[in-house]
Amino acid sequence: MSVFRTHVLLPVDEGTAQAGVFEVKRRLEKELQARKLQGEVKVLESGSVGIVGRGVILAVYPDRMVYFNIHEDDIPRIIDEHLLKGRVVAGLEHAPVAAMAAGTAGARVGLTREQRRIVLDKAWTVDPENINEVLATGGYKALERIFTEKSSPEAVIEEIKKSGLRGRGGAGFPTGMKWEFTRKAAGEDKYVICNADEGEPGTFKDRLILEGDPHKLIEAMTIAGYAIGASRGFVYIRGEYQLSIERLGKAIAQANEYGLLGKNILESGFSFELEIKKGAGAYVCGEETALIESLEGKRGNPRVKPPYPVTHGLWQKPTAVNNVETLANVPAIIANGAEWFRRIGTDKCPGTKVFTILGHVEYPGLVETDMGTPLREIIFGYGGGIRGGKKFKAALLGGAAGVFLSEKLLDVRMDFESLKENKAVLGSGAVLVMDEGTSIADMLFSIAKFFAHESCGQCAPCRIGTRQILNIAYRIRQGNGRAGDAETMLRLAETMFKSSLCPLGQSLIMPVRSALENFKEEFALAGGQAVKS
Ligand code: SF4
Repeated sequence: MSVFRTHVLLPVDEGTAQAGVFEVKRRLEKELQARKLQGEVKVLESGSVGIVGRGVILAVYPDRMVYFNIHEDDIPRIIDEHLLKGRVVAGLEHAPVAAMAAGTAGARVGLTREQRRIVLDKAWTVDPENINEVLATGGYKALERIFTEKSSPEAVIEEIKKSGLRGRGGAGFPTGMKWEFTRKAAGEDKYVICNADEGEPGTFKDRLILEGDPHKLIEAMTIAGYAIGASRGFVYIRGEYQLSIERLGKAIAQANEYGLLGKNILESGFSFELEIKKGAGAYVCGEETALIESLEGKRGNPRVKPPYPVTHGLWQKPTAVNNVETLANVPAIIANGAEWFRRIGTDKCPGTKVFTILGHVEYPGLVETDMGTPLREIIFGYGGGIRGGKKFKAALLGGAAGVFLSEKLLDVRMDFESLKENKAVLGSGAVLVMDEGTSIADMLFSIAKFFAHESCGQCAPCRIGTRQILNIAYRIRQGNGRAGDAETMLRLAETMFKSSLCPLGQSLIMPVRSALENFKEEFALAGGQAVKS
């Protein structure tokens, strides 16, 4: 068996694929062969490192050095200088990667700063398509523990309840309670659904979790199935997420082959099947009941609630619907215990959160850090501050259905409770950063346009309200605002909040109110005129 002295990792995601990672890989393998180094240097594909907009990324181990914006013509220099002489290649953008692993100190550059990674712990350190690497690094340990210790489903639910894990899809509902309601609901047939229909603009955390470590989701869903008493699970995933679908499909096949999924898992007597269902890209299908309707083969229209899916879900049977990031926390909680999890984050929101940092920052991308981390640290620490030395103006938190925050709230802590106290939401964890040159009126127009386009039209307040708000936002953006426009927009959004059927119509109030309250000057409310500043 060969022992490689160096490993070169190439993170593969949609972004690096477009930037030419496969061309770089082919060139690397060719040049290594030409130098007869193929027995000394191992080239591996990994999941995403979480950094976007930095082209092809290449990491060298055990040196723990990462290079950015690599082109295939850089390869000969990387081999001759770094792989043969052990010297960092001058002129190529690089940073040490020590800090990417949980709890280690090291690099301080943007997204390579220290992170505590629970859900993304293996995301770029193992080959997601190789189950042996996953098993060698602790994959499926939690599932094994449940069966070797003969933990009852109730004990598993109790552990998740004790951990304080809350849904990471936006609502923050306690996961253990959801599982308990589903387990206790009447009926033999029950289902687990993973909501991987990530449609929130500016959010791609679930995609990178799935691309980087699909086995973690399989393990988590199997545990959820055991806990609630389900023998079937579905992953409802955006059709555009090609790489996620491919890797998850391969991972499911491998898990079945290894007896970690399917019939009589680890000879425990418990059986669980997992299927992938592709969504067609409607934003509203991220709402759990619309997702269920779509899974049943119908148009994805939200249902009237109650009853909730925990009692009347898929095919009217008890169903637990959980987000990808929520589920990805489960194996670590079971493996390390609820007490371990509770020591991370805040009292009421334990654990970590994956944030997507986008917009006018130096280092856009993905970061996993403790719940309760101040917004300032997310933007100026991990995000590297405002691009081009400009001044910060606003951050839109939580995606399109989120809240515009001004500089006054830069020190707010990023967890469900602290944000609620400040009339903001954590939502999907998207942080869209805007510099001093951004028009909030323009941003509000874009959001109104998005909502008007994505409304399913089933209920009048949302169907008509989104269109009317869009018309007003357009006028204001064009500098033709009329007296009372801002007040009308607010009144419409409030009516939608009170009378719409689902969260899509109910949540337009968030960006509308926060834009009008926190950026009054742009809408000149004092004079009763809504005009662009
Ligand atoms: Fe459809 Fe909007 Fe009503 Fe939701 S609120 S059901 S998206 S029309």
